[in-house]
Amino acid sequence: MADGFAALGFTPEIERATLPIWEKVKSRVTPLEWRLQAPLIASINELKKQKNAVILAHNYMTPEIFHGVGDFVGDSLGLAREAAKCDAKIIVQAGVHFMAETSKVLCPDKTVLIPDLMAGCSLASSITGADVRLIKQRYPGLPVVTYVNTTADVKAETDICCTSANAVQVVEHIAREWGVDRVILIPDEFLARNVARQTEVGIIAWKGRCEVHERFDRNDIIELRAAYPGAEILAHPECPTEVLEEADFAGSTAAMNDYVIQRKPRQVVLITECSMADNVACDAPETEFVRPCNLCPHMKRISLENIHDALLYDRFVVEIDPAVAERARLAVQRMIDMPPPAVPARYDLVKARHHVDVELI
Ligand code: SF4
Repeated sequence: MADGFAALGFTPEIERATLPIWEKVKSRVTPLEWRLQAPLIASINELKKQKNAVILAHNYMTPEIFHGVGDFVGDSLGLAREAAKCDAKIIVQAGVHFMAETSKVLCPDKTVLIPDLMAGCSLASSITGADVRLIKQRYPGLPVVTYVNTTADVKAETDICCTSANAVQVVEHIAREWGVDRVILIPDEFLARNVARQTEVGIIAWKGRCEVHERFDRNDIIELRAAYPGAEILAHPECPTEVLEEADFAGSTAAMNDYVIQRKPRQVVLITECSMADNVACDAPETEFVRPCNLCPHMKRISLENIHDALLYDRFVVEIDPAVAERARLAVQRMIDMPPPAVPARYDLVKARHHVDVELI
């Protein structure tokens, strides 16, 4: 057990105080687990008040974090917007390091904490700021759109950021603004290929991959459909295009969440990180979730224990060179300043019949 909470116990007071959260997560958490988690949740929520802190919890956090201590929950875009608006003194990022950097970039005067410095991302580590400078030399005059899953160094070399929820909108916006017919969209190759199928704008892509979503393939979907013929299959656009072609729906985590909450399918498969299904399931008790379980090892480094220690000991503080942070902020802010999509983007694969032009760097 980590420092700082060895004495916490499952008292009747804590049981009462955490009852509404238990009601929410009890289909995903066992009573035995709850006896350990509830005291930590109560203590974290008390520490937040004492320290004027908020927790930004990504959709891929486990349910006891997402529903138990997250003040703002959602996808990268939603969390970036909340980080920019919030007036707390401390932000604890329950997510991976690039997300904490994004919060710091948007809130330079706040203390941003990441509970585990090793919470990285295969996409973010696939490219550096120096790589982007070389790409710009190779394609002068073309705008660089960067997925938010990148370091501040990379964002600083970027014209505008995007997420999977708004990538098509951002690509078309920047192509219009620059008067060009091609855009550099980095670093996720599969996201770039899937965006290219939604737009007439030509895409130049980088060979970065999400190690969670790249593992799904067409056969997984065919096998799932055979095993669960009534299930609706929803896929994330970081998956290979062949996966999206077999799915019933493709969209960002926010779009998948909305799909389940609004349409209430009897049985559903979410082709994305495993905890996402657990979190949506807490809000959709009438839907049965089939789980092809791919966990993100980086997201899973974040726990109630290290969130508690982050608040107790003010660790680990995220710092960025102010000059880099300012340039990165412009790229993120340009994305935030765009009007939010009326509904989270879905990837309409029927539209994908035109010629798809992707140049892979
Ligand atoms: S799920 Fe993929 S994109 Fe998200 S943090 Fe993990 S490796 Fe990175």
